[in-house]
Amino acid sequence: MNRRPCPICGASDQTPLYEQNFHEGKVSLMERYLVVVCQACGFCYADLIPSQEEFNRYYEDMSKYEFGHKGGAVSQDHLSHFRNIVEFIEPHLASPETRILDVGCATGALLSVFKEMGYTRLEGIDPSPSCAKIARDLYGIHVTRCDLMNFVSPHTYDLIIVSAVLEHIVDLRSAVAKLRNLLKPEGLLFVEVPDAERFHCFLSAPFQQFSIEHINYFSRLSLRNLLNVSSLQVIAELQSVATFQRVTDPDLLVVCRPSGVSYSTIAKDEVSEKALLEYIDASYEIDRRVKEKLQTELARCNKIIVWGTGTHTLRLLGKSLDRSKILYFVDSNPKYVGKELQGRPIKAPEEIREEDLPIFISTFMYQDEIISQVRGHLALKNPLITIY
Ligand SMILES: [Zn+2]
Repeated sequence: MNRRPCPICGASDQTPLYEQNFHEGKVSLMERYLVVVCQACGFCYADLIPSQEEFNRYYEDMSKYEFGHKGGAVSQDHLSHFRNIVEFIEPHLASPETRILDVGCATGALLSVFKEMGYTRLEGIDPSPSCAKIARDLYGIHVTRCDLMNFVSPHTYDLIIVSAVLEHIVDLRSAVAKLRNLLKPEGLLFVEVPDAERFHCFLSAPFQQFSIEHINYFSRLSLRNLLNVSSLQVIAELQSVATFQRVTDPDLLVVCRPSGVSYSTIAKDEVSEKALLEYIDASYEIDRRVKEKLQTELARCNKIIVWGTGTHTLRLLGKSLDRSKILYFVDSNPKYVGKELQGRPIKAPEEIREEDLPIFISTFMYQDEIISQVRGHLALKNPLITIY
């Protein structure tokens, strides 16, 4: 792995804050990364990460299974989140004739909210192979299968949306410069990213914000620094929240526009490092508590079934989750069913037969959903172990 210079100011002087380990398992993209803070501008980001090309291949592989089971329709949580976004952007738009591009639009659900409100010139791009068809079938919206850096358009846009995109990108400055080139001179860029200033106020599973996919941790100032170096000026900013299932995450919404001024100085961000250290401390404390609870529960059982084979389970395997007690794993994702984890098979939920064995539900976000699946759809009587 090459060292990653600061994606905002380019400096290479950095201090490590935390090492995130993904361990071996089904995630082959990387085993660990370092969360660091740039000594020059204060931006916090992940270092020792793969190249953008490797991330792109990983996302393409993941997306094959993404939208299959629900036909691409989004949840009510997503829909209300998208309505909040549109409510924030709309006062800045001139007319329903506004030409809008959503970059990383998935199945086009956010654009469909604009469509409901009478906007007609809507298009999206997304690298996932299934998105274009679903967007056309569900909403009648045109989506091109493409990533941002390879996108060539015959025209420029009045509004470009990048929602939940910038936190995934390795080379941020090139991406923002590309977005600016796709804008009309009076156009607007909308950005939504997780708000790292408030990670510690919205805790769920420990260290969850340092996921495989999220490699940039923005504060209000660091996002402004990034936009300013591409001569984009922030005209509206909102610290908001987004709730999905039982998780509420802090997010940051910004509208900016091209400015004639080129900003040569970057203001030092003094907030991010302190906020992330608070988040890391709080995560250690939750980690200690849930591992203790799991140990107590496991002491009462001989064998268990573990539901979930993601990062959450991989972090627990070993010291906290004794492999010899696991009969097998269960995962709803067909991608993993039939494979093995640590020498134990991964089965589909419908294959659970041993109704006397406890099922350990190894997830924060989907805990409630899985409980109702076990008791409802599957009608199983197994004792359940939960740690949240
Ligand atoms: Zn920097």
